[in-house]
Amino acid sequence: MKEFAYQRAVDVPDALIAADGGARYLGGGTNLVDLMKHGVEAPARLVDVRHLPLAGVREAPDGGLIIGATTTNSDLAAHPGVRRRYPALSQAVLAGASGQLRNMATVAGNLLQRTRCAYFASQVCNKRVPGTGCPAVAGEHHNHAILDWTRSCVATHPSDMAVAMLAFDAVVRYETLDGAGEIPLAEFYPPVGDTPHRETALPPGALVTAVTLPGAAASPRSRYRKVRERASYAFATVSIAAALDLDGGSVRIALGGVASRPWRARTAEALLLGAPLAAESFRAAADAELSAAEPLPGNGYKVTLARNLIVAVLTELADRAKGVHT
Ligand code: SF4
Repeated sequence: MKEFAYQRAVDVPDALIAADGGARYLGGGTNLVDLMKHGVEAPARLVDVRHLPLAGVREAPDGGLIIGATTTNSDLAAHPGVRRRYPALSQAVLAGASGQLRNMATVAGNLLQRTRCAYFASQVCNKRVPGTGCPAVAGEHHNHAILDWTRSCVATHPSDMAVAMLAFDAVVRYETLDGAGEIPLAEFYPPVGDTPHRETALPPGALVTAVTLPGAAASPRSRYRKVRERASYAFATVSIAAALDLDGGSVRIALGGVASRPWRARTAEALLLGAPLAAESFRAAADAELSAAEPLPGNGYKVTLARNLIVAVLTELADRAKGVHT
């Protein structure tokens, strides 16, 4: 590991000043430190933000929740307001990593984690070293993207939490030396295009301080389901966060493991508004959403898997709404 300086920030302004000039913020370190050990990340300085007063979940004036950036994944999943009003988020967090990692990992770190594409550790990778190529397109890509990818990069985003937060219209809050800002999670991860190394829309040096969940998006009838290659401690092959609100006539669907960013299934949502809550509608909506899929030779199975997952989870939610025991 390359030598680096370490500084523990005492407050947000202190962290912003300390990070000016290209340092990296250190939260739980569960991804960053691994990448440093493998030489993928080599920051000259780490600014430890874990002890800033940014942890905890509190009520928002609109009936939603404000989740502090350094809240641990464990505390987020266990929070009564999250479990009751945004249960798919709690389920998503519990579906990710081990209990030990969830105790260390933070909300901001989870959103900012890097891809687990196996080629990312090599020197030939557009995401790691721009302009070097993407060996995954012609190589091993069975767990890579089927939607919205380009020949520059076909990697997926690894976060389960971000998928559920996207379904609930989360907004990321941040601070910079020039002031505070907000970015809807739907715009937080830019399309991969030909700049896969640009992974978020955050301004340089920005420190994520919180994520807000709008009160209007709360849905006790929501569900996160994840398909993975082994029973635990694996990233999603395909995952879904979905919510059905029959009274308000709203449907929310977000997918994981299918694109370079968490994928909001807007086409499927639009088709389902006002449609009968039946398997036929769910199949038609899933097919419409996935008609844009462009699988590579090794990952066409994900199209079928995503389709079946959408139908299964929406059927489960509809049955629950109708009082059918599944
Ligand atoms: Fe790198 Fe992306 Fe290609 Fe993987 S898919 S090798 S991360 S450019």
